[in-house]
Amino acid sequence: MARYTGPVCKLCRREAQKLFLKGDKCLTDKCPVERRPYPPGEHGRSRRKESEYYMQLREKQKAKRIYGVLEKQFRNYYELATKAKGITGERLLQILESRLDNVVYRIGFAQSRAEARQEVRHGHIAVNGKRVDIPSFRVKSGDIITTLGDIGRIKEAAESANKAAVPPWLEVDYSSLTAKVLDIPSREDIDIPVQEKMIVELYSK
Ligand code: SF4
Repeated sequence: MARYTGPVCKLCRREAQKLFLKGDKCLTDKCPVERRPYPPGEHGRSRRKESEYYMQLREKQKAKRIYGVLEKQFRNYYELATKAKGITGERLLQILESRLDNVVYRIGFAQSRAEARQEVRHGHIAVNGKRVDIPSFRVKSGDIITTLGDIGRIKEAAESANKAAVPPWLEVDYSSLTAKVLDIPSREDIDIPVQEKMIVELYSK
């Protein structure tokens, strides 16, 4: 499956914003955005005229980068969101949030979505008792998430997880490393710094 393999911190610097793509490092002063809060490259520090299109594009890129999704799949999610009832932007975020790799990250079984993706790919995550090794698998209300095989890394992540940060639509039992999806998340439960309305405006042009 295609995925971005370039330098991760550069993605945050491009948005001049911390996107928290690298786990622990993001919380330290080693974070490049802390040290150089402007886009990389020769013109990184120069003021750019920010057109409406440019702003909309940035919001889309930010969302793609946060969830680690490439353009084609992101566009497919958007198409799916337009067909669902309700506000398209919110539906889009709900679809992204319900990806298994995002859920594994949200429950603190991984320090970043990239790490969560790897845990899923390596077969360490089960949904309702069945191994699922597809990071884009979408969970639904009532699903039970458990761990499988060599889970040293998951245990380590869970031990240092910020348990207060687990969103209310997920419930975790850290003693058995089991989680339950209680509901689909509402917009207020999704704490990503993205204005989804602008993504919808961009795609509806
Ligand atoms: Fe982004 Fe984390 Fe790298 Fe900072 S350390 S630039 S927040 S990925």
